[in-house]
Amino acid sequence: MGKAPPPAPDPVAALAASDLFSDAQRATLRVLCDTFIPALESPAGDEDQAEFWGRAASDLAVAEGLEVALLGAGLTGEQTAGLRSLLDQLAANGMAAEAPREARERIVLGFSDAGPDALAGITTLRALGNTLFYAAPDPATGRNPNWETMGFPGPLGQAPSDREPPLRVRRVSGSDEIVEADVCVVGSGAGGGVIAAELAAAGKSVVVLEAGDYLDDADFDGLELSAYQRMYLNGGPFPTAEGQVSIVAGRGVGGGTVVNWTNCLRTSDHVRSEWAAEHGLSDLAESSYDEHLDAVFERLRVNEDCSDLNGPHQRLLEGCERLGYDFRRIARNADRDRYTAETAAYMGFGDSSGSKLSSAKTWLVDAQAGGAEIFAGAAVARILTEDGRASGVQAGWLDPELAQAGDGATSELTVRAPVIVVAAGAISSPALLLRSGIGGPAVGEHLRLHPTVAVTAYYDEPQNWMWGPPQSALSHQFADTGGGYGFLLESAQATTGLFAGAVPWRSGADHKRRMREWEHAAPLIALVRERGEGRVEIDPAGNPVIHYPIADELDREHLKLGVEQLVRIHDAAGAREIVGSGMRAPDWRRGDDLEAFIAALNSLEIVPREYVMFSAHQMGTCRMGRDPATSVANPWGELHSTPGVWIGDASGFPTASGTNPMATIMALARRTAHAIAAG
Ligand SMILES: Cc1cc2nc3c(=O)[nH]c(=O)nc-3n(C[C@H](O)[C@H](O)[C@H](O)COP(=O)(O)OP(=O)(O)OC[C@H]3O[C@@H](n4cnc5c(N)ncnc54)[C@H](O)[C@@H]3O)c2cc1C
Repeated sequence: MGKAPPPAPDPVAALAASDLFSDAQRATLRVLCDTFIPALESPAGDEDQAEFWGRAASDLAVAEGLEVALLGAGLTGEQTAGLRSLLDQLAANGMAAEAPREARERIVLGFSDAGPDALAGITTLRALGNTLFYAAPDPATGRNPNWETMGFPGPLGQAPSDREPPLRVRRVSGSDEIVEADVCVVGSGAGGGVIAAELAAAGKSVVVLEAGDYLDDADFDGLELSAYQRMYLNGGPFPTAEGQVSIVAGRGVGGGTVVNWTNCLRTSDHVRSEWAAEHGLSDLAESSYDEHLDAVFERLRVNEDCSDLNGPHQRLLEGCERLGYDFRRIARNADRDRYTAETAAYMGFGDSSGSKLSSAKTWLVDAQAGGAEIFAGAAVARILTEDGRASGVQAGWLDPELAQAGDGATSELTVRAPVIVVAAGAISSPALLLRSGIGGPAVGEHLRLHPTVAVTAYYDEPQNWMWGPPQSALSHQFADTGGGYGFLLESAQATTGLFAGAVPWRSGADHKRRMREWEHAAPLIALVRERGEGRVEIDPAGNPVIHYPIADELDREHLKLGVEQLVRIHDAAGAREIVGSGMRAPDWRRGDDLEAFIAALNSLEIVPREYVMFSAHQMGTCRMGRDPATSVANPWGELHSTPGVWIGDASGFPTASGTNPMATIMALARRTAHAIAAG
């Protein structure tokens, strides 16, 4: 049986061993971070917060923390070389401690205009540096010194450790091992959990291999950065190759369902018809697919009773009501008996109350009851085939302290099985197929991300951030502006680190003021169902590289319309100030001309400097369909090229779902499991 979960990786040891930057580059990075977050005089009226205003990045060793974070961020060789060169060029252009702050700020803004590579590098360093400054806890107190001024209460404390974790997982054994099974499921998230449960119930011997670790209620410490390190792919939000979209995905037993926001939406009728008619998933247009969705909602005990509205959701409600827009509460996979509004706010770091009915609390428990074995810290390197058919997988047992860097394999685990289900998420699943040399020409293509823009506004009253679920309501007003494309209007949790990385940076003083007023901020988001697409490739080491240019004209229109509608909602809800996303955008204050502000935002280019976007929904990179030239798997999920290998996660979506995808992933996974069981 497993050992206790490991601690988060040791940053001091990681820094000592790092050869990411030279000493000169480190010195430039320190100055750059102090330019992003300078020591300032308190503004008039805020003199009693002098420590907050006077604290610079170097006071919290941000540059050093940033280097450690970059080590675990899965950067490609090209991105690493780009960052080194950026630091060299910054130094050559005067980024030095003796340069006045205003001069250094001009250098930052100048580099942001110097082309996509420089901008991507500046964006990465700025976002990560700010995240660390406002989220990293002091090891001595467990609290970040900025929180009190900002009004962030900090972690609630860990749940009682007397609650038994429901799963018994196997962890690193230190010796090579060979295991036999009927089915090997790679990845234990939304899709993998369902398939393991259904096939175990059908009498198959099932082995689940999960690269991340197993954490349960008592392991969740309510800290943003520790959650990123232990439960998020690549150690937390990380950029696409072009630096245009920040990606977040879960990692660990239960996958994304352990850290996600429990918004349960059924697959829309439009998408069901499209996938049936154009991609050959013909039963999706029939009631048999409703049975899959119903079974998912039943197992996750989805309900609307635990969907309290925090401040940002109240603002969404008020704005939508005044504009006559659609507004609805969401249904969530939450255990009513364990739910409290106070603990729910922290669920992005793992839900210590045990209310969240993640895959680790539901499907994997069923899988285990049916005899499935779950291995944590087992990263599958490649799929094995014999005579063109699936025959097993080869995995590395990871040392969890090194696992994020991908180089911590301590011994090998081989699973021999005639059926392999690939459910490693839409970033890692195509990488696995590419490393294995199977899947055909569409592997990694057709990536969809639901690119998401946020508009933050400030209100007179505190927004009660850390109370209630991060998502509890939404508006479908623009879900379909024609042809099934459009966007959902939702809110997003902006915890101190995430907010610090996402809020636009125009100068050190401007950014610090935004953070000072964090408690009064309300971000709303537009989540776009896109028509365009990106792709996932692998670098020479076999790690995924994500390309996502936003080239499609309709998507660009929707991103702009999304920003406009978020502005209108904030205005209608009574915001006192609305922040234009981006480095060049103007801000709006009540009394200013709203239409002129919207026109100014509309004139901005869709580039990272002006449009900060993120994606928690990765889809489509091993998609199902009829045609082996344009899809990886047949309409039931089995690879066109390799019998016995099946796709069981969001990578199997033919296109973007347009809705938060968890319920659709699970329903499709159940459908695929039944196809596998039927032989
Ligand atoms: C912060 C956040 C909030 C979200 N909120 C919502 C929401 O409210 N509603 C909603 O519908 N969706 C939400 N989502 C999205 C949803 O959680 C994901 O779409 C879903 O979890 C994806 O399911 P999946 O099965 O494709 O992959 P995942 O759930 O990501 O699971 C894949 C698993 O495979 C593992 N893995 C990867 N590579 C390997 C390998 N080589 N070997 C073994 N294992 C491997 C990973 O560690 C991971 O645990 C959110 C996501 C995030 C990150």
